[in-house]
Formats: sequence, C-alpha cells, structure tokens
Amino acid sequence: MEETLRLLYQLQKIDSNLDDVEESKGNLPETVKSLEEEVLEIENKLQEKQTYIDTQVASRNKADDDIKEFEEKLKKYKAQQYQVRNNKEYDAITKEIDFAEESVKTLTQQFEDFENQMSQAKKMLEEYQSFLEEKQSILKEKKEELAEISKETEEEETKYKGERDKLIKRINKDTISKYTKIRSARGKAVVAVRKNSCGGCGNRIPPQHIIELRRNDKMYICQHCGRIVVSDEFTKQPTD
Ligand SMILES: [Zn+2]
Repeated sequence: MEETLRLLYQLQKIDSNLDDVEESKGNLPETVKSLEEEVLEIENKLQEKQTYIDTQVASRNKADDDIKEFEEKLKKYKAQQYQVRNNKEYDAITKEIDFAEESVKTLTQQFEDFENQMSQAKKMLEEYQSFLEEKQSILKEKKEELAEISKETEEEETKYKGERDKLIKRINKDTISKYTKIRSARGKAVVAVRKNSCGGCGNRIPPQHIIELRRNDKMYICQHCGRIVVSDEFTKQPTD
C-alpha cells in the first residue's frame, strides 16, 4: 500500500504541473473557442441574408417581366381600339386596357418595394461582412498567440505526460479511477497532512487517524472533502 500511496502522490504532483502549464495559457483557449463560435454565427446570418436578397431579386425580376408583358398587351389593345366595329367591342377593349394599366401600377409599386427591401438587406449584409472580417482577424491573432504559447509549453507538456504514462502503468486501474473521480470533483485528489489537518480542505484530522495514516498501510480519505490524504513524510522525500 505504501508504494501505491507514494505513486499516487507523485501522480498528483505531475498532474498539478500539467495544470500549471494549462493555466499559463491563460484564457486564450477559451477565447479562441468563443471567437470561432461567433464567426460561425455571423457566417450563418450572412448566408440567411444572402438567401433573402436572392428571393427579393427573383421577385423583383418577376415583377419587371410582368410589367413588360402588360405593357406589350397595352400597346396591342390600344392599336385594337382603333379597329373596333361597335360599342360593345370598344367597351371590352377599354376594360382590358384599364385592367392592364391598373396591373402595371400595382406591379411597379411591388417592384419598388422589392427593390427597397433588397437594398436594405444589402446594407445589412455589408455590415455583417465587415463585422465578420473584424472577428476573423481577431481570431487569427488569438490563434497565433495560442500556437506560440503552445509551442513554448509543448516541451514541458510532453515531459510530464511521458512521466504520467509511465507512472500510471504502475498503479492498478481501480485506484486510478478512484483518483480520477476525486480529481475531477476536487481538482486535487491527493494531499499530504499539514499541521495535523487535511492539506486540501484544512479540516483537522483526529490524532488517532494521523497515527494510522503514518503507517501507510491503507488509503485514508478525508471525511470532509473526500480527498486522499497521505503522510506528511511524503513531502520531504524526493519523488524523482
Ligand atoms: Zn479534506
């Protein structure tokens, strides 16, 4: 058991070092992630706007075609108006002319509406585009910073991870899974006794437990924080 406790204590040391390395990157990894999400969101909005503009353009063009068609008809009707043979025919053709003129009026209004909506959407599209470019350039900058820092810390990280892999092979799986569970809940899983108290939460450890703990023959779990508490002797011995 003593060997296991010692290995766990070493494992915690390495993991704490890895935590420090991660911390030295600051909030850059998070910043990069949230910027990437923002960029994606703006790209989606741009796509939506573009689809809207395409629809407006299609509607505008359709209105334009319809106007031309009615204008053609008007020309034809007006020519026919001179050739009518009676009042009935005249009335019929006049009715057609009125309808075509009314339609041209309505369609022209629609054409202008589509045109206005489209140009407003285009303005917004341009705003989104410049916003996107701005965000993209910040993202690029932050990514480069992160890459730079990662390059610096890579060596350390590789060293600690190598040590960790070797160490883990010497500890049984159940113990590792226990360790991992405490670590994910508490950050630090293994602490040493400090001034007769738990080195993690600071709560006092009863003297009887301190004596038991120093025998290193079983795993002592702090009753308050659930961390594995090892003898303070471990802190004095070289771990590597
Ligand atoms: Zn504790």
